[in-house]
Amino acid sequence: MKYKRILLKLSGEALMGEKKYGIDSSILQQYADEIKKVKDLGVEIAIVIGGGNIFRGVQAEKSGIDRVQGDYMGMLATLINAMALQSALEQNGMYTRLMSGIKIESVCEPFIRRRAIRHLEKGRIVIFGAGIGNPYFTTDSTAALRAIEIESDVVLKGTRVDGVYTADPEKDSTATKYQNITFSEVYEKNLSVMDMTAFTLCQENNLPIIVFDMNKSGNLSKLVQGEEIGTLITA
Ligand code: UDP
Repeated sequence: MKYKRILLKLSGEALMGEKKYGIDSSILQQYADEIKKVKDLGVEIAIVIGGGNIFRGVQAEKSGIDRVQGDYMGMLATLINAMALQSALEQNGMYTRLMSGIKIESVCEPFIRRRAIRHLEKGRIVIFGAGIGNPYFTTDSTAALRAIEIESDVVLKGTRVDGVYTADPEKDSTATKYQNITFSEVYEKNLSVMDMTAFTLCQENNLPIIVFDMNKSGNLSKLVQGEEIGTLITA
């Protein structure tokens, strides 16, 4: 196994599937299937899921809600997704723990680094909900920070695009994909991989990132076994 402990970042937006809002249960099931394949390989899995399908802090300002309040609403949105994912994973026979950046004791544990690592060692899938627990951050930053804290081998950013391109492939048909790229090249070329806070955290801590297409069946399990899928970003 190339990666023994992974942090998988899933976007909240992708959970909508074809819907305009909320959670598409078929996408949830698809994620559970893909995660199960990796679990069966003996990989330790931590997951951060976004909240963009329900609420984003930046969107709050436009509707007259205070930004900080909006960010907390966004964090709670990620927790709703995390609970849905937890349920889907458990229905597919996996053991899980949900750890939250905001204390909500009736539904999840608070994030405690040592405890998170212990869960992973025991074979439980750990989902980090409610982001870092602070406004003005994103779930990408949460993914980077938690990955470093739990000593993950890599951050796997599952998207609907199969890697990092020279330009946005959904807008520019001449865009080509990078198989490998360095952190500094991403800066120089001004490519978007994650927000800068998240990206810098990974770079400074020498934590590789792989951007890959999460919607293609088998991609995740091939990746952890070392197949070159998506784009690998390293120092
Ligand atoms: N958020 C936050 N702090 C965090 C993580 C998330 O304030 O540590 C808020 C922020 O408002 C963000 C929202 O939660 O817009 C949802 O997360 P994100 O936009 O990263 O979700 P995604 O785009 O991955 O679906």
